[in-house]
Amino acid sequence: MSTKPLNYEIQVMGRQQPIVYKDAVPASLTVAAPPKDKTVAFLALLIKKYHDEIMKSQAWKCWKCDKKATSMLHTPMPYLHLKEPMVTDIAQPICCNGGVCDKEGRLMIEEEMREACGVGPAGL
Ligand SMILES: [Zn+2]
Repeated sequence: MSTKPLNYEIQVMGRQQPIVYKDAVPASLTVAAPPKDKTVAFLALLIKKYHDEIMKSQAWKCWKCDKKATSMLHTPMPYLHLKEPMVTDIAQPICCNGGVCDKEGRLMIEEEMREACGVGPAGL
């Protein structure tokens, strides 16, 4: 399977600089209209691969309430058809999975997505 180099850029809320990882993406997903289910599966794997490392890289605080973060919400936006394929991931540190800050984080991102481009997040 041929691949292309991928820039995976994570913009963690509350952090100035994005975190960038170099990875690879199957060339079959870099076409104008890639199979959606495969793209979603690829994004899920990508997030999983780096999630723990990002969590451990510093003591994150909840985007909403300033408590210690125990997890992160990810909202990946794929730009795989570009000449240099990239994924921008908006990450929100949250204090508690399934808690209020988790729910509000999801709502906020959903609203932003609707306003920005009329497309929902990949459902991750
Ligand atoms: Zn919180």
